[in-house]
Amino acid sequence: MSFLNLEKVSKFYGSVAAVHDFDLAVEKGEFISLLGPSGCGKTTTLQMITGLVRPSSGTITMGGRDITHLPPPQRELGVVFQSYALFPHMTVAQNVSFGLEMRKVAKPERDKRIKEILSLVHLSALADRYPREMSGGQRQRVAIARALVINPPVLLLDEPLSNLDAQLREEMQFELRRIQQTVGITTIMVTHDQAEALSISDRVVVMEKGRITQVDTPYELYEHPRNDFISSFVGKSNFMCATSSFNGKGASISIDNTPIRFNTDRREPDGKVSIFIRPEKLRLTEPGEGQIQGKVTTRYFMGSQWLVSAETSAGVLAVAVPNLGAPPPMEGETVGLAWQSADCRVLAGAAK
Ligand code: ATP
Repeated sequence: MSFLNLEKVSKFYGSVAAVHDFDLAVEKGEFISLLGPSGCGKTTTLQMITGLVRPSSGTITMGGRDITHLPPPQRELGVVFQSYALFPHMTVAQNVSFGLEMRKVAKPERDKRIKEILSLVHLSALADRYPREMSGGQRQRVAIARALVINPPVLLLDEPLSNLDAQLREEMQFELRRIQQTVGITTIMVTHDQAEALSISDRVVVMEKGRITQVDTPYELYEHPRNDFISSFVGKSNFMCATSSFNGKGASISIDNTPIRFNTDRREPDGKVSIFIRPEKLRLTEPGEGQIQGKVTTRYFMGSQWLVSAETSAGVLAVAVPNLGAPPPMEGETVGLAWQSADCRVLAGAAK
């Protein structure tokens, strides 16, 4: 049995299912992200684990113990909120000490724990500062220290980095992962930022309208998204409408409005399909070469790469071109686009 288990957990508000039949088994030490658009049920799921929201049905177990109806304080979980919720009139050390005092930990042990944890989050020099005297990133570290100091079995993070600016946010993502791995703590983080979820999680749970649509490692999620919602929500992707004829072993695919045909040797859906391909798997070629021709409509310089869009008979396709010196063709120029059939994903139904 896994360390933390949610079995068929649902939460209904009236007839609305905020979370529906949520099944997840989390291993000890895993970092899991709950990812999805606004309103998909991420926070409600997290709050059912904290105990702040009671499930309408289903079971939650932790370490083999049923905690479904246990009051929040008895779960002893570490929680970091988006707002950090630090006590403004207390110093960093006092903020971190609070949970230990509530648990009647003796002063020498308290001082030792505070010292250790502030060193872990690189805040030893700021122990006597007040939250108002600190930057957003430093406050975030205090919130993490305060959550971890009680040695909780699970750390729960609700959009912990969303108040930080882009650069600090990226830095704190890796800090969060470093701290989590140093402590080895089982962690569940809510986020709507796919790049954040992919970069620091062991597994990502994608949610849509209260339900889980896919649970996978970041790599699998990116390379093998289960449906077109995930493929467009996780990373950028191109879609082309096509028709697939599956012969039991492989498929012959023909892309609508083009003479393009290619074969795959995988199990594919039959009939109307969408071909999904990542921009970095497309290649610009000389006009007349490649599988399809197009005209460049836009090109954006992103630093490490260019993002070039080309209008083709199969629709507008985006191509990521590594910045290796020579700039890509200009707007209005004709180009060829090429891809390997193994890099295409074939999904049932027409692309949205
Ligand atoms: P966000 O990213 O915007 O925070 P979320 O994915 O965390 O969204 P939840 O806050 O879990 O989503 O909400 C899921 C659904 O449940 C939404 O449709 C929301 O309106 C509804 N909901 C949440 N809390 C309540 C409540 N107390 N009463 C009624 N409906 C609620």
